[in-house]
Amino acid sequence: MKNITILGSTGSIGVSTLDIVAAHPDRFRIVAMTAGKNLDLFVRQIRQFAPRIAVVASQEDVPRLKELCSGLDVTIMGGVEGLIAAATADETEMVVAAIVGAAGLVPTSAAIRARKDIALANKETLVTAGHIFMDLVTEFGVRLFPVDSEHSAIFQSIEGHRSEDIQKIILTASGGPFLNTPVSHLPHVTVRDALNHPNWSMGKKITIDSATMMNKGLEVIEARWLFKTPVDKIEVNIHPQSIIHSMVEYVDGCVIAQLGTPDMKAPIAYALAYPERIATGVKPLDLTTFSGLTFSNPDHDKFRCLGLAYRAITSGESMPAVMNAANEIAVAEFLEGNIGFMQIAEIIERTMAVHPAHNLKSIEEVLKADLWGRETAHEICREMIG
Ligand code: NAD
Ligand code: MG
Repeated sequence: MKNITILGSTGSIGVSTLDIVAAHPDRFRIVAMTAGKNLDLFVRQIRQFAPRIAVVASQEDVPRLKELCSGLDVTIMGGVEGLIAAATADETEMVVAAIVGAAGLVPTSAAIRARKDIALANKETLVTAGHIFMDLVTEFGVRLFPVDSEHSAIFQSIEGHRSEDIQKIILTASGGPFLNTPVSHLPHVTVRDALNHPNWSMGKKITIDSATMMNKGLEVIEARWLFKTPVDKIEVNIHPQSIIHSMVEYVDGCVIAQLGTPDMKAPIAYALAYPERIATGVKPLDLTTFSGLTFSNPDHDKFRCLGLAYRAITSGESMPAVMNAANEIAVAEFLEGNIGFMQIAEIIERTMAVHPAHNLKSIEEVLKADLWGRETAHEICREMIG
């Protein structure tokens, strides 16, 4: 029996994780779970999975959650202290980090310090603080399993191989809803158009990141840290069918890829049960139904966020944290209908342009850079809106 904490149980990854847990009650038990705003779903989850600890992100929601859970044997907490308590609960062996954005930094680093293994969906933690996280993972001797489908594919494609034999990592990208939209039309696309992802069903923030291809940029940075690979050995390839989830090319010219129906339950189950493979209910792949699997290079003029991410990780130091913060602000403003789609990249680029990159030695310093990025992006955004 593996004891699990889920940070972000009401999100897209959280719900899929609970589906896997529900299908394998003999293997997994939920010790603690945390949620943001969706209390109705959270209470249903608490009733079904009977965690010892349930945490809501805002302290203000604690009384209401307590009321909704009256009669249940669960400790209700709130705020960052609550998130840390959930992440470090004594019985917990693995923490599924499925909070969206830099908000996952503090609880996930607390989990590592408490020697919990991590199933990492929250890529923003590695983007903002990759060097600090990877040092913590080594220092506290925990295992870090990727949940992101591309990184799970790479993880599966490098098993049994020597890292020095890797020639390059090829991250596949669907290209999102605007792959075939002319660049001249992009200023006119709506929030609804951008949320209409062709292959994956995900939370809103990552769905917009997929439309701008910032998601792939964040994933390049995530791969750089997870697999200790220099960015010039990480390539992005557009593969609209999302069947090959990523590939690794070796020095002998061989390429190893992982394929499957696009469903996050597969990489989640692999992270939870590693090294075993367990039933997921994911539809088996029938390659005969595909008329072709296609690959092409990304259009950097159209998807400027991808280039910004390469620029940020090449500049290093605090730049990726600032880029990530500006992206979070710009995406939120776009979702609110305050800015146009093309202004997302513009806000990020302008924020990065005025940022004097500096070394970050601790999570506290990362949070400061994150705050600077948010405030600066906000100002730039206000200026643009006028
Ligand atoms: P989501 O928006 O559906 O869910 C996010 C979860 O985090 C929710 O439970 C929400 O309540 C909680 N949350 C949000 N803000 C919070 C805060 N400030 N404090 C505490 N909790 C907060 O997002 P998602 O699509 O499930 O994505 C989660 C993470 O996984 C993201 O980092 C995303 O990039 C990554 N990821 C998601 C997918 C996917 O298919 N959804 C795939 C790969 C990686
Ligand atoms: Mg991904």
